[in-house]
Amino acid sequence: MKIAVCIKQVPASTDVKLDPVTNNLVRDDAPGVINPYDLHAIEEAVRVKERYGGTITAISMGPPAASEALREAISLGVDEVALISDRSFAGADTLATAYTLSKALEKIGPFDLIICGKQSVDGDTGQVGPEMAQMLNTSLATSVSNIEEVDSGKVILKRMVEDGYLRVEANLPLLITVTKEINIPRTPSLKGMMKAKKEEIPTLSAEEIGADQSRIGILGSPTKVRRVYKPISTGPGQMIEGTPSEAARSLLKKLKESKIV
Ligand code: FAD
Repeated sequence: MKIAVCIKQVPASTDVKLDPVTNNLVRDDAPGVINPYDLHAIEEAVRVKERYGGTITAISMGPPAASEALREAISLGVDEVALISDRSFAGADTLATAYTLSKALEKIGPFDLIICGKQSVDGDTGQVGPEMAQMLNTSLATSVSNIEEVDSGKVILKRMVEDGYLRVEANLPLLITVTKEINIPRTPSLKGMMKAKKEEIPTLSAEEIGADQSRIGILGSPTKVRRVYKPISTGPGQMIEGTPSEAARSLLKKLKESKIV
């Protein structure tokens, strides 16, 4: 089975800086880590390979620094990696990101199973996986919390939904996005770390993946960020003591004093 994992490098801290003019994240001085959901995607790929055999390829679209995320993926059990990097990818929204990743997957694939995180912890849209499934014309299952079985071109899996689980049968080729509940990611082995240190990280440019220039970067991004701002802090909360009826009376008094009611 040929498995692909999409991993995004995200800032290690939640205290990220924003460019006031472009409204983009200032990533230059922020150390990067693998998006936490993508660590679960890597772990699940390794578990599927351990059960059914195959190879795992991890790809990441990002600046040259994202090669560190791919190196970490190798230390965790990924066989091959590719960094998708080109200046013309800058300013990509989720549509342009999904297009670029899809072109890369087509170029180095085809893959039977593509595993993404449910969402990134910086952009946080959860759109890239489903958009890629559409572009690659694969089946799609989001919020997957368990892969039960892969057999005869079919996968039986569990999807987390608001009030429980859905047990689903899906055909390969399949793209899934995974939740944190799916597994506990392993730590890198010493052998894996040694391998990761030595490995060359191949880079693919826009031309090499055969991308249409009008569908990548800012040109290919119909979404425009108008304004980005931090929510205004409204001060600390207050605990109201007493029995439920005393607390209700006390709350009403406070609301009247603050002229909310
Ligand atoms: P989600 O959809 O939440 O991620 C889900 C999963 O998709 C991840 O777990 C991972 O498996 C996969 N995935 C997502 N992104 C990648 C990736 N890059 N490589 C591999 N796998 C991935 N970002 C910039 O860095 N520079 C910019 O100039 C910039 N401009 C933007 C302009 C606009 C208008 C918008 C809306 C966003 C911009 N972004 C920019 C953010 C960028 O679009 C997102 O980081 C990217 O599209 C991924 O979306 P997301 O983070 O919401 O991913």
